[in-house]
Amino acid sequence: MKLLCCVECNQVFNLSFDYKECAGKHGGGQYVDRVNAKVWGDLTKIFVLGFANSSFISAMRNQLEHGDQAAEFYYAGSMTPKGREFTAFVIPEAAASIERVRDRFDPVDPLHLLHQ
Ligand SMILES: [Zn+2]
Repeated sequence: MKLLCCVECNQVFNLSFDYKECAGKHGGGQYVDRVNAKVWGDLTKIFVLGFANSSFISAMRNQLEHGDQAAEFYYAGSMTPKGREFTAFVIPEAAASIERVRDRFDPVDPLHLLHQ
């Protein structure tokens, strides 16, 4: 799963076949096929994040099967259950699965993409 993060807007959202931009229009993007995405924006403001899918699914399954963990985590002044961790990462600029461009591009029609 790929997400776009704008540090100016403090916003994170999933990339999908439907083109999306951050609220401040600093960057945006979309999937261009089932694996690859195209993203525009300043490399110092717009980051593409990835969830390691197997790790993410495992964390959700553990939560569903076992419920909350014991309240052994100190946060905001009290003990609380710690959330289940999973692996996420900043996708590197050189990643083959992301085409990075500086300037805004015209969205590609998702219906066209789905029929590739
Ligand atoms: Zn923004």
